[in-house]
Amino acid sequence: MPELPEVEATRRGVERAAAGQTLRELRIYDARLRWPVDPTIPAQIAGLRLKAAQRRAKYLLLVLERGTLIVHLGMSGSLRILPADTPLRKHDQFDLLLGNGTTLRFNDPRRFGSLHYTLEDAARHRLLQHLAPEPFNAHFDAAYLQRITRRRRVAIKQVLMNSRLVTGVGNIYASEALFRARIHPRRRAGRLSGKECARLLRAVRAALTAAIRAGGTTLRDYVGTDGNPGAFRQKLYVYERDGQPCRRCGTLIRRITQGHRSSYFCPQCQPK
Ligand SMILES: [Zn+2]
Repeated sequence: MPELPEVEATRRGVERAAAGQTLRELRIYDARLRWPVDPTIPAQIAGLRLKAAQRRAKYLLLVLERGTLIVHLGMSGSLRILPADTPLRKHDQFDLLLGNGTTLRFNDPRRFGSLHYTLEDAARHRLLQHLAPEPFNAHFDAAYLQRITRRRRVAIKQVLMNSRLVTGVGNIYASEALFRARIHPRRRAGRLSGKECARLLRAVRAALTAAIRAGGTTLRDYVGTDGNPGAFRQKLYVYERDGQPCRRCGTLIRRITQGHRSSYFCPQCQPK
């Protein structure tokens, strides 16, 4: 599933390839995404200029000179920059044809992605207005992390994965951040000290930043990945590395299950 770094890498790719371009046409091949695509969008946006690509959590915001397109990659979506005459493949859902003869093509085999258009402030759109703060937001600081963990009896991993409290961390980077912060995934959230909260905040940002960089360096025409962390996989410390030696101390990485998701950790570097 594309997590925040993949969406951010996609945003950067779109920004590089498409900012300043005119949207010649939106061609919808299959409107049956997570929510049916509004059939009036093509007429509303034709001829508008794409000013910038922004991101809020895992939503990609294509800011037009009037209104904003809101794209979600869902479980399996990807956006690619292609010459406009590239033959369609299975699961290509829509094309955003640009003035320079290229297209932003959306492919999504599982169709959990989405496309919306809004004329209002995108931050107030119903999909975005209730999102929790994300790790790069200034409001998301050590004090915030302390506030949301305090008095919570659940494991810290589950707080990081709770999208009503934190958005955009996801399973891979929750495990990676806890390793970097030397905190056991089963530690009770409410037991974290202020120092540990500060360390964890830095670790979350560092894990995401490293992944964004790796995504950003491997991308060319492929502006997004298909949910595979790709080159970054070789740099992961613990995620899906159970049974392999810890990159820091050599102890074998372990896997446990928390809330139906796998967590990975080093028992030596992350004592309980
Ligand atoms: Zn270790």
